[in-house]
Amino acid sequence: MANSKYEYVRKFETNNYILPEAWFVVRLDGQGFTKFTTAHGFQKPNDLRALNLMNECAKQILLKVADITVAYGQSDEYSKIVSVISSQFAAFYTFYWSTYFPDTKLLFPPAFDARAVVYPTDNHLRDYLSWRQADCHINNLYNTCFWELVKSGVSNKEAEKILCKTVSSEKNELLHSKFNINYNNIEEIFKKGTVMFHKTVYYNITTPEGESAKRVKKSVEILNCDIIRNKFWSENDFLLSE
Ligand code: ATP
Ligand code: ATP
Ligand code: MG
Ligand code: MG
Ligand code: MG
Ligand code: MG
Ligand code: MG
Repeated sequence: MANSKYEYVRKFETNNYILPEAWFVVRLDGQGFTKFTTAHGFQKPNDLRALNLMNECAKQILLKVADITVAYGQSDEYSKIVSVISSQFAAFYTFYWSTYFPDTKLLFPPAFDARAVVYPTDNHLRDYLSWRQADCHINNLYNTCFWELVKSGVSNKEAEKILCKTVSSEKNELLHSKFNINYNNIEEIFKKGTVMFHKTVYYNITTPEGESAKRVKKSVEILNCDIIRNKFWSENDFLLSE
């Protein structure tokens, strides 16, 4: 019924519009993944299957998000976009689970929280991404040391105690002297995480009529490189200029 006395609750649905000309970042984070990863026997500190699964979901979202941008434009309500992305991510995670973990039964449904942040300038966006990549490196160095210590027979508590007062150079030294690991040689995906973006490639073809024509190919570029330094941003300058 369109005009019932209950109709007024509709007015409680407010539309919040994205700030135009600004970057809109949605950060997803697995909820209770400490428990989820333990329950599903993830390799510690880095289970590559799980990272590949996360990347698959992100790639699928990327393919969808190009769609969302077109469908909602720059002035849609941000709460809706956040809910769309987080629910789709969780759906993809479940959908692709058995591809990446063929021998592990999914024991309970994974969930992801999502928050939206608006950054007004390119520099804010770069600082945001630098912050996340620095966080990835710091956590990975710590976790690599932690799990090497634990695998060598040290208790979790003792490992925490050994590491709590060490700086980066001491962690590198510990890995080198005690476990013969050169941190530099660890997989880039573990140290740097993954960056993905749409890439448009233009190329020429010859038509059946013998004429030359331009064609466009869209793909998702997936890299495990440094995104803090300028190099990445000058090599992919279209990212910030679009
Ligand atoms: P919250 O709900 O507050 O986010 P959380 O348990 O998910 O809680 P996080 O700080 O997000 O806490 O930490 C993620 C957890 O998932 C860590 O324990 C991390 O070691 C684990 N984890 C995430 N990805 C992997 C992976 N690819 N391989 C192994 N462990 C992983
Ligand atoms: P929540 O439980 O609200 O999800 P969280 O502990 O999961 O919070 P996030 O806000 O999701 O934290 O941020 C994720 C990362 O950011 C974590 O790795 C944490 O180390 C870092 N972080 C969070 N808040 C701060 C802060 N105020 N200063 C520096 N780093 C922070
Ligand atoms: Mg997390
Ligand atoms: Mg969280
Ligand atoms: Mg957290
Ligand atoms: Mg989490
Ligand atoms: Mg609906």
